[in-house]
Amino acid sequence: MDQIQKLKISLMSNGIQISHEAHIAIAGSENNPLSVFDYVTTSGLVLILPGKIYVNANFKEESCKYSENILDFDKTFFIRSPIGKIEVQYLPVPSYIMKKISTGRPVTEIIMTHADRMRISPIRGCNNRCQFCDMGTAFPYRKAGLDEIHEALMIALLDLTIAPKHLLISGGTPIKNDEDYIDSVYKEIISTCPVPVDVMMAPREDFGILERLKDWGCNGLSINLEINDELLAQKIMPEKFLLGKEAYLKFIEQAVKIFGRGAVRSCLILGLESVQSTLEGVKLLAQIGCDPVLSPFKPLNGTLLAGLMPPSPEFQEYVYTEAQKIVKENGVILGPRCIPCQHNTLTFPDEGNGYFFN
Ligand code: SF4
Repeated sequence: MDQIQKLKISLMSNGIQISHEAHIAIAGSENNPLSVFDYVTTSGLVLILPGKIYVNANFKEESCKYSENILDFDKTFFIRSPIGKIEVQYLPVPSYIMKKISTGRPVTEIIMTHADRMRISPIRGCNNRCQFCDMGTAFPYRKAGLDEIHEALMIALLDLTIAPKHLLISGGTPIKNDEDYIDSVYKEIISTCPVPVDVMMAPREDFGILERLKDWGCNGLSINLEINDELLAQKIMPEKFLLGKEAYLKFIEQAVKIFGRGAVRSCLILGLESVQSTLEGVKLLAQIGCDPVLSPFKPLNGTLLAGLMPPSPEFQEYVYTEAQKIVKENGVILGPRCIPCQHNTLTFPDEGNGYFFN
């Protein structure tokens, strides 16, 4: 692992300090926000390190004050770090973050752009109560109308600050009675959106949804196992646990058969379970042709796991190295394959080896 890859890991583990000059260059004033805190894994600053390595660096948490990495600005952005002065690019937040759609809802309640990808949340809030996420507890469950989604999507597509290249439909998990609603959103948005559309979803008993998504033109799927250790899963993500690990793996396997290798990925949260358990999860996913995605745990204020620390750089480096061996043996790679979307995952670009820009 080279110095820049280690820097990404250090930034994901310890976050970054922001100098006054960098803050002004990004936000215009010390009083203006630096980022949109829309979701735990996307709430930092997106930076591009040398070698097209994207990273989402936390800066707001108390522990970031002690980070040995400082984002600074003097005509260009750079990081002062133990390995020296590293030139970086900063990716701005989209221009629509203060806008509302015609029904009065903030655009960002429905759509948000990170790096080159828009994320639609048809459901704000969530039917589940995972302890590492606040979607189910911080926001009331609310569905967006198709007109609202179309309007928000148009605003994001036309954003000049960040030109989005693709779309992910995710958001909170629907209640059972809202599966028809969410399917109508999938069908409508996938078949009308001018850029490729991926869907993040939980397994269903009805595997037919996979064929339907493919028929509508869905580009790929993210079906997140999150935690491999079932005892831990039962404790910290009870609703997902109830679906059953077997059900996850069977659904993912069928998704790979329909969408093909490289089009299906699954996140594993790094740092909440043992190394052995995470690596076993990597193996289970890789063996059925799914790209495992290593997602380092980020503590979120207001959640039950807020007091835990992100995994250390040493922990992340070890898991990454071992996971690489496993995916290689099984003919897949660590996801996501889209290079800008790697900003909040333990993945590095290697263009021509399955990784790409949309
Ligand atoms: S299912 Fe997803 S959105 Fe809902 S609480 Fe769990 S992690 Fe958050």
